[in-house]
Amino acid sequence: MNATLQTPLREAVGGRTAARLTESLGVVTLGQMLAHYPRRYDQRGQLTDIAGLVVGERATVLARVVDIQEIQPRGGGAPPRGRGRGGVSHITRITVADGKGRRLTCTFFNQRGWKHRLPVGTEAMFSGKVSEFRGERQISTPSVAVIGRSDEATPDGADGRGAGSDAVTEAIEEFAGGLAPVYPLAEGVTQQLLQKVVKLALDLVPDPPDPLPELLVAGRELVDLGTALRDIHRPRSKDALTAAQERLRYDEALAIQLVLAQRRARARHDPAEPCPPIEGGLLSAFDAALPFALTDGQQQVGEQIARDLSTLHPMNRLLQGEVGSGKTVVALRAMLQVLDAGRQAVLLAPTEVLAGQHVRSLRAMLGPLGRGGELGAPPEAIAVTLLTGSLSTRARREALSALMVGQPGIVVGTHALLSEGVVVSNLGLVVVDEQHRFGVEQRDALRGRQVGAAPPHVLVMTATPIPRTVAMTVYGDLDTSTLEGLPRGRSPIKTTVVPAAEKPAWLERAWDRVREEVGKGHQIYVVCPKIGDDETDPEEDGGGSGRSAGKARRARRKDADDEWGSAPDDDGDERRPPLSVVQVAEHLGSGPLAGLRLEILHGRLPAVDKERTMLRFAAGEIDVLVSTTVIEVGVDVPNATMMVIMDAERFGLSQLHQLRGRVGRGTAEGVCLLVSEAPPGSAGRERLDAIAATTDGFRLAEIDLEMRREGNVLGTHQAGAATSLKMLRLLRDRSVIEQARIDAQDLVADDPELTRRPALAEWVATTIAAADQEYLEKG
Ligand code: ADP
Ligand code: MG
Repeated sequence: MNATLQTPLREAVGGRTAARLTESLGVVTLGQMLAHYPRRYDQRGQLTDIAGLVVGERATVLARVVDIQEIQPRGGGAPPRGRGRGGVSHITRITVADGKGRRLTCTFFNQRGWKHRLPVGTEAMFSGKVSEFRGERQISTPSVAVIGRSDEATPDGADGRGAGSDAVTEAIEEFAGGLAPVYPLAEGVTQQLLQKVVKLALDLVPDPPDPLPELLVAGRELVDLGTALRDIHRPRSKDALTAAQERLRYDEALAIQLVLAQRRARARHDPAEPCPPIEGGLLSAFDAALPFALTDGQQQVGEQIARDLSTLHPMNRLLQGEVGSGKTVVALRAMLQVLDAGRQAVLLAPTEVLAGQHVRSLRAMLGPLGRGGELGAPPEAIAVTLLTGSLSTRARREALSALMVGQPGIVVGTHALLSEGVVVSNLGLVVVDEQHRFGVEQRDALRGRQVGAAPPHVLVMTATPIPRTVAMTVYGDLDTSTLEGLPRGRSPIKTTVVPAAEKPAWLERAWDRVREEVGKGHQIYVVCPKIGDDETDPEEDGGGSGRSAGKARRARRKDADDEWGSAPDDDGDERRPPLSVVQVAEHLGSGPLAGLRLEILHGRLPAVDKERTMLRFAAGEIDVLVSTTVIEVGVDVPNATMMVIMDAERFGLSQLHQLRGRVGRGTAEGVCLLVSEAPPGSAGRERLDAIAATTDGFRLAEIDLEMRREGNVLGTHQAGAATSLKMLRLLRDRSVIEQARIDAQDLVADDPELTRRPALAEWVATTIAAADQEYLEKG
């Protein structure tokens, strides 16, 4: 058989097995099989810690057989009642132990012969679902791969070969380096099957052609692909394993960076309408009237953006800046430069609440310049138009017709704007605020908006700091700027964990603090994880009305998984349901905060109500706003000084950081209380301690990333799908990613489509799973 990495598995292992592997692992070709890397390696003689096993999970345990018993159930052979024909006539119960003497029972039904295959002293891997029976851990009918015999149990000689059985001898020869691969399992595939099929694939394709240029491989001191694949699955030694991991990690980094470099190269050739700054336009009028001086950071980033907008190619820039660093002014100044060039600008926000607020704050900042169309406004004044999914039909029609005419103006909306095919003629700039709440589809829609016209300049803004390596991968096709520093006079936020379960008195004290703040004339947020209006969906509204309810719910649930991925369920199996806005508001209003002006806000309230509530809160007519994360991003009420977050451990780290950024925006000090029942030492509590200990958003983003599965970062974590990031860890492998970025840049420099390196181009296409590639392309 003349096999290659592209050869279908079914030609090598037969249809049934191949079908099973495809179904459970998504593996179709030999190459994909070889890309199913071991999850870990068990060193012969180093047994798995049995105490660390989790009941209910699938596990693979390397352990030593210490006892074996065969049992004939009473009345063996006769089918027990109600069990159909599958009676149990023979049970083998094998007790295995780890290095510390902890035991696990493996049970086989009606399978004779295990006694001979697994004599006492045998080391083997047992895989299956861990259960508990009468306080003892067990695996029922595990799959077994024999590794060898432990030295002390070997009767003749130290090499472990003396035990006789063929299976044992074979196993020892197979894992020459003493490192046995342990593969991630899935329903229907056993450890043994994977080891067998991978070995077969390696034998069939012993020396696959290396898609990477030889010079590059040599220059980075990497091993060739064939060696890497062999050693990742059947390491000859620990050093060989390390070298294999380095090579495969580099490959992943390079493939991603090549896709991104190609994308950047193509974007550089896209035409755009240049919008150079002009004298005496809106921008200079705005700057002249600005009540404060721009910070150095705002100035610097502003100049960068002004230059980008002046060129013949579209700007694609990511602007990161801490919560409260003043990104809105930067965006507004960019929009004014574009308006000065006679074009329109769109500002997109993730929620209707935020869109509404943007309209208000843009108008406030613009003063008379923002009253276009109103009586008595200066002739050069522009209109700031709100366009969201929940506007009345008439208001929509008016807004839309204004847009179609293409008068210079700023349109503010949620992403519903994009999904509904709204045409903004003469569009020069799209600003996307608080990027992290935006889905892939929306970003894509934004790029595709201008059919037949030059693509607009794009400015993406986020307050969630993005670790550098993530910026280089997920946002790798964008130029990035960081807005350093906060406007002067900003007060720090003090964050404290309130352990409600252990110290109920602290919680009482917290409500007293709320009263004190209200007494000083300030506003307070109380944030809960859930709405609690009897609908089952716990998450918050994303502002879009374009999606169907079911789809939106699913998408939201996925968001929630992502964001709460770092909030594991490790604090006991039975968590009580999360506290809800409705419930907490009732409790506070009739108890600890009775007499204060208290209102609720969440995503399922009608848009007009949300708007009115926000306005009244900002105007100081509401003391306490009990809300969901609908206020998470961008809401700006400088007089709000305190935030109490209930069930805080249920939120993700960056989400908490965003939330607390809503206070301390004025001159008064901000206070954030994280109320949690998570016990000390639990993962949830540790995260809260981490966030209380630092206000450094970049550090928090890194902690967050460490706790997530990296696949999530690329947006691909569907079970069974062949994802691209298997070896690469964005934080740990920063230098590899940086190297790969340089190399990718070189490779595409004079050959953007890689036409001179077809093998490499082909490899990129197959390495980066289609879904990831799409994701990266949509940037
Ligand atoms: P974010 O970066 O979180 O979006 P905003 O743009 O909402 O921050 O700005 C927060 C607040 O700071 C706003 O009230 C804004 O008017 C104010 N602000 C922005 N720039 C300055 C500055 N240079 N000096 C003083 N205040 C500023
Ligand atoms: Mg903002």
